Amino acid sequence: MTDPLIDPFRRRISYLRVSVTDRCDMRCLYCMAEDMVFLPRSEVLSLEELERLCKGFIATGVRRLRITGGEPLLRRGIDDFLSALGSWIGRAEGPGLDELTLTTNGSQLALHADALAAAGIKRINVSLDTLDPARFSTITRTGKLQATLDGITAARESGLAVRVNTVAMREVNEDEFDDLIAWCGAIGADLCLIETMPMGEVGENRVDRYLPLSLVRSRLAHRWTLEETRYETGGPARYVHVRETGRRLGFITPMTHGFCESCNRVRMTCTGKLYLCLGHEDYVDLKQVLRSGTDETRLIEAIRAAIGIKPKGHEFDLVSTSGTAGNPARHMSITGG
Ligand code: SAM
Ligand code: SF4
Repeated sequence: MTDPLIDPFRRRISYLRVSVTDRCDMRCLYCMAEDMVFLPRSEVLSLEELERLCKGFIATGVRRLRITGGEPLLRRGIDDFLSALGSWIGRAEGPGLDELTLTTNGSQLALHADALAAAGIKRINVSLDTLDPARFSTITRTGKLQATLDGITAARESGLAVRVNTVAMREVNEDEFDDLIAWCGAIGADLCLIETMPMGEVGENRVDRYLPLSLVRSRLAHRWTLEETRYETGGPARYVHVRETGRRLGFITPMTHGFCESCNRVRMTCTGKLYLCLGHEDYVDLKQVLRSGTDETRLIEAIRAAIGIKPKGHEFDLVSTSGTAGNPARHMSITGG
């Protein structure tokens, strides 16, 4: 029952990302179109069903869970859901979790930070692309910078380690990375820069916004002492240590360096679709398996069978906008980043 999950390319799958909702209170330029249409609520699994699926993955050897969205903290009942999953952390024997984490835009974080810490979450990722209120409104279309800043403060006060996630966008926030590094250093957070990925139609040409992080890193090296580190979290980020701030700076570079060879993760949507790769449209419908009256053994067999078709890697192509060439038509908010 607890044999490791190994995919056809001999990668051990130990990390599941679960999107608990596709809904969001922001409409970030790179993530969604302004008039984004969300899934009908009837298609979305209940939190009990999502928990059952998560338990199936834990039983097959998944050791790390990241809860994401859409905006996960908008889902009603999320605190109890996290608490139930958190009860799997650190079990001495048999299946269990090494870690439960969350990615959030921070808008509701001040309300939930204590509950996250009580659930056993130790670190979270908070998305923040700028420290300028007007620019924040432009990038997120509907977000308020202060709410996210308050959320980060509350998280730090609750004892949660925070990594700030910043999508690097040409001519949008490329002049702010120095400030973000300094600010994260001052508040005791790590920072991670992310290359924009061509996922779903967002109403503009992504080539105009794409900024290779290899270029950003060489620019940053003029001002900061970036020291190599072996630190890793099991995710796709590669880190350096910033000597002047004492904090880590991560780079997620799906476009300039494929991060597929060491991929250890799969992603589940709030409708129970299991995507084996961020960059492919193929999925396995676990909702159907779950709702066909299946017992746990069958569910586990279905999960194992799904891992058996995980592709080797993505084929992202920035020139085509969506749904063609190697780019998936679905948005990041469906699969959950
Ligand atoms: N709403 C939450 C948030 O913003 O943190 C969680 C979901 S969001 C889809 C997860 C992460 O994906 C965020 O850090 C966001 O910046 C990133 N993201 C969304 N669309 C992206 C894209 N097209 N390319 C790169 N990163 C993207
Ligand atoms: Fe919402 Fe996160 Fe997508 Fe922004 S990146 S629109 S906050 S899901």
